[in-house]
Parts: sequence; C-alpha cells; structure tokens
Amino acid sequence: MRALASWRSLHTRVGLLVVLAALCGIAAGVWESDAQLSQALLDQARQSQQARAERLAAHLGRELARLQAGLLELADDQQRGLLSQPERAPAAVAHRPAALATLDSLLLAERDGRVRLRIDATGAHAAGGSVAEAASASQAQPGAGALISDLLIESTDGHPLVEFVQDLRDAQGVWGLLVGRLSLVDHGLAAGLEDAASLSERDLLVISDRRGRILAHPARARLKVDLSGERRLASAVAEWRKSGAQPAAAGSSATQGWVGDEDVVAMAAEPLSGWRVWLVSPRSDVLAPLDRARLGVSARLLLWGLALGGLGVAAMAWMFRPLRMLERQARRLLAGDPGADVSLTSHGEVGQLARILHHVWAERTQAEGFNNSLLKKLGSVMAAAPVGLAFTRQQRYELVSVEFCQLMARPEADLLGQPGQTIFASADDYTALGPLVRAAFEAGQPYRGDWKLRRGDGVEFWGRLQARPVDSQDPGSGTIWSLEDVSELLLLHRQLEHAAVHDPLTGIYNRKGFEQVLASIYAGQPHSRPATVLMIDLDKFKPINDSAGHAAGDAVLQAVTRALVTHVRLGDTVARLGGDEFAVILPSCPADGAHQVAEKLVQAVTEQRVHWEGRSLGVGASIGVAELQAEHDCPSAWLADADAACYEAKRQGRGTVRVAPVRPLAGASQRQQALAA
Ligand code: GH3
Ligand code: MG
Repeated sequence: MRALASWRSLHTRVGLLVVLAALCGIAAGVWESDAQLSQALLDQARQSQQARAERLAAHLGRELARLQAGLLELADDQQRGLLSQPERAPAAVAHRPAALATLDSLLLAERDGRVRLRIDATGAHAAGGSVAEAASASQAQPGAGALISDLLIESTDGHPLVEFVQDLRDAQGVWGLLVGRLSLVDHGLAAGLEDAASLSERDLLVISDRRGRILAHPARARLKVDLSGERRLASAVAEWRKSGAQPAAAGSSATQGWVGDEDVVAMAAEPLSGWRVWLVSPRSDVLAPLDRARLGVSARLLLWGLALGGLGVAAMAWMFRPLRMLERQARRLLAGDPGADVSLTSHGEVGQLARILHHVWAERTQAEGFNNSLLKKLGSVMAAAPVGLAFTRQQRYELVSVEFCQLMARPEADLLGQPGQTIFASADDYTALGPLVRAAFEAGQPYRGDWKLRRGDGVEFWGRLQARPVDSQDPGSGTIWSLEDVSELLLLHRQLEHAAVHDPLTGIYNRKGFEQVLASIYAGQPHSRPATVLMIDLDKFKPINDSAGHAAGDAVLQAVTRALVTHVRLGDTVARLGGDEFAVILPSCPADGAHQVAEKLVQAVTEQRVHWEGRSLGVGASIGVAELQAEHDCPSAWLADADAACYEAKRQGRGTVRVAPVRPLAGASQRQQALAA
C-alpha cells in the first residue's frame, strides 16, 4: 500500500520520468551513432576493398604483360620457313624466356590460324585445330603484344585455358602465329598475385573474362561458369549488370564496390585483357571491431545514464522540497494543529499555492464560525416551533426538530442520514410524492399534501407535509419540511363530508347526495342509459305522527328505509329526500324492469310493521317511475317526470305504481303541433 502511495507521488513519478528520459536519450544516441558508425565503417571497408581489387588487377596486368613480352622476344628469334621444317621447331623454341615458364604449351600455326605444331613438356607434336584469334593477330601492328583470348576450352580434355597469340613476321609481313597456352586448371591465375597471400580464408578472389565467365576461383568446379553462379557475387553482379555494365572491353579500368547483406564486394578491371578481378569479404569481419566496441560503450553509457538519472532524481527531490513542506503543513492544518502555517513555503508556484491555501483556510474557519452560530439559532428556532421541522438534502434528513422526532416517535439519531422514505407508510406513496413536490417547486409554489406516515412504534397516522426549497434556483440547496399530525382533523372533515350528503335519521343519502348520484348518471349518457329513477311518497304517514307521536313516525321511517334497502340491488341508490319522501336510482334498468321493482317495493313497505307501545304501525307507498331519456334537458327534468308519476299514483288512490309517459321527441312534437295547426 505504501509502495503504491509512493508510486502515486508526483515526486516519484517525475523522478522516474527523468531516469527514463536519460536512458531513452542515451539509447537513442547509441543507436544513432552505432548506425552512422556502421555505415562509415562499411563505406571505408568498401573503399579499401576497391583499392585492394585495383592492386590485384594491376598485378595481374603486369603478369600478363610479362607473358606478352616473353612471347614477343621468342617470336623475334624465329625464321620464316620454320613451319615447313617442323623438325627444327623444338630447337628453335628451346631457349624460351623465363617469363613463359607458366605456359603449358606453345603452338605454331599458319597465319590463317591452322595449327601445325604443339610443343609441351613431352616434346613437339604435330597438331590440328585452329587459333581463334588468328585473324586479329595477323592484322596487329608490328611489335604489338600478344592478343589475349577470352576463356577457351581444351578440345581434348575439356579443361579451361586462355591463349596468348603472337604474330610471327619478317620484312615481308606475317608468316605465322606463335601461341602460348595457359591452363587455368594447372595454373590458378589468382594464386601468384602478390596480394592474394594477404587474403583471409573467408575472403574470396575471383577473376572473370570480358564476358563474365570465371577464369580463376579457389574451387575448380566454379571455373568456366558465369559470375552469377557464385552465390557471394550474385547480388553484386546483378547490380553491376543492371547499372548497364556490359562485359568490358580491353582498356577499361573501372573500379566498383558494393555492400551487401553478408559481404562487401569490390571489382577492378584489368585494362590489358579486359578481365575483371572480384574481391569478396564478409561484412561481419568488417564490422567485428564495432561489435566489440559496442558492448563496452553500451555498458559505459548505461552507467552514465544511471548516474545522470540519479542526479536528476536528487535534483527533483531538492526542487520538490517546498511542495513536501506545504503538504506537511496542510496535513497539520487539517488535523487542527494551531502551530501549522502553510505560508512557511515562499517562492514560485508552490508559494502561490500556499498563500491561496492559507486564504481559503482562513475563509473556511470564518465561515465555520458563522455557520456554527447560525446552526445554534436555527436549532433554537426548530426546537421552539410548534410543528415538526426537518431539512433534507439529496433526499436524506440532515436536520430534524424535537417536535418532528416526537411526531415520528423516533430519536434524532435514528432519522439523521436516513432517506426521506423512512417515515412513509408506503414506498409507493413516497415515489408518488417526488413528482408532486417538483411540480409545485417548478411552479414557484410551496408543496402541501396529506400522507399516511408510520411512526417508529409502527402506528400509522395522517401527516400534513409542507415543503419549501431553501433556494428555488438551486435544487441541491435542500428542502425545508414541516409536519403536522392531521389524523383527527381529517376524521372530522370526513365526518362532515359524510353528514353533508347523508340523512341523519336513516343513514342513507339525503337529497344532496341523491342529486350528486343522479347528476353523475345523467352526465354518463348515452352509456349510462337505460337508467330509471323511482320517486316514493309514503301514504298516510302523517296520521302516525299525529296518533303515535313523532318518535313513532321516525321509527316507521327507519323501518321503511330497511325495507327499501333490502329489496334493491347493491349498486342501486336509496335516498330520503325529506319528510316521508324517498327515491331510488336503478342504473342499467329500463322502465319495465323498474316497474316490477317498484311493485315489489310497494309491497315490501306495506308489509313492514313497527310495533310501538302496543300498537302495530304501518304505511303504504305510492311510486312514480321515470326512465332517463335523451329528451331530458337536465337531471331535475328526469326527476320531475318521476315526481309527476308519483303524484299521479297518489291521485289514482295510493298504494300503486305509475310510469311516466315517454317524452315525445323534440322533432316529433314539432310535427304534431304542425298537424294540429
Ligand atoms: P299523503 O298520504 O297524501 O302522502 O299524506 P300523508 O299523511 O303522508 O302526509 P304528507 O305526505 O302530506 O306529509 C308528510 C308528513 O311527514 C308531514 C310531517 O309532519 C311529517 N314529517 C316530516 N318530516 C318528519 C320527520 O322527520 N319525522 C316525522 N316523524 N315526521 C315527519
Ligand atoms: Mg306522504
């Protein structure tokens, strides 16, 4: 954990960055200088390789010139007629110059190239065949050196060879040809070159003729083949040929060099013969000193890097001293140490930071003092408030008054920090409250509403909550709540509401309640049709009052109510409109059905008996039936039809039911009036 903390510290990270930067810089420097050094070494190696190849070519040239001079000297000693007296030939060429010791054999040929005689270590022999360069040699300038052929193949054994063709002439002109043959198998051309001895085993020296065929190679199998057949030369030769270099003519002295992936190759042309000397050295040999040096240099640079990095880290530590001091002082400040002084650190950005911190701390201390005194005042106000007060922020209680705790029967510690929902009887209620409060606040209004709450002891009650934002512009500033227990108030209110629409004597709807139900069915048209209303007036009720007293009359009214209620459906509405006047609303019931119900009710009321002071009291009932029709302008028109039918029933002798006639259509009545007119 501690290691993690120190890794996260700015000081450690900057220190590591410095070390890393130093190492990266050194690595980049090493890489760059290594690349440049390698290139320079290779360039130098190529140039020195070219110089060596040039020296070898020059040496080869001297050897060839010596052979030419030897042949010329020998040719000068010969007399015309030698070819017609072949037996003289061995003696004539017996005293050949030393330069010709490397030749395998000498040929004597006619000027047209036909070979007459071959003289070798075994003696003189008559021979056939022809000399390839005969024509050129015959036409050469007097005294010019022998012509040097390209690669030739011995017809008898297939060995590779080259020929030096010297004309034989006197005052009359060319009379024959003297040819020196050099076998490439027996006399490696390269073997005698003075610098060849300085070649390492890994170096390769190759000589090619003008057409690029190999004349000299350490491996005999490679003789005669084309240069491109030598793997170590293949890419250099390809480049050489690609650059337009054709098999060079005699006289060319071009020198070229190539640095390949594996070898450094140099080529120099021998001007006399047009042959080329190729020198190949492994690239790794050239770079070996650099490889040896690289290891030592890298180790030293690594040490330098670490030393520089260490110095950088130490410098960082020194530079970060003020920051660490500020951190220590700030910690002491937060821990409440009165001796802490963040302004101790002085200069630069850290000093500026320290001054800002000092300023912020001073302001915070002042604000804390102010807040404390404000909280004290607020505490006294809340304690004195007759209603419960609470302050919430982020929907959690941050302050609750004594009264609030008492109302909720929970200690302050049990409420502080709890979510607002904790006092609600139902979580769904609390969810529903949120949008209501927000809507009120957005409208710039305080919120007010009654909700069922649950006290700490599990008892539920109705609480009236009022909420007001601390700052309507800032939703995060919190909300002030007041709480009152309105359970009794609501009960009283409900009782009053009930009394307003119910008849106190019978407990059923009074006229007001009845009219509300009637109006709602009327408003529900046309879906609420069919619906029927019954208007009931008791027959001869007044005599009960008169004879048995008002209380007996009340008892009869209650008995009639029971009779009515028990003979209608649950969804029907029975009401006492006043005096001995009742009404029944039958939803979903047409006039026919209602008629039957009314008959039943007449019978039920009539059969009802109230025993009062030894007497059996009873009443009858007259009922008017009216079905709701589209033609009714208003609920009271519908009721008026029932009332008229009831009046008609009374008039017909009481104890009966009368159905209100169907109202004529507005259009039909107009037609009837028109017909009458
Ligand atoms: P009719 O057959 O024509 O309907 O006559 P009735 O005797 O029934 O008398 P009527 O309907 O005209 O009058 C109703 C009486 O009911 C009048 C009034 O004294 C009496 N009454 C009204 N309210 C109450 C009440 O709350 N209690 C009692 N006991 N009597 C009441
Ligand atoms: Mg009556």
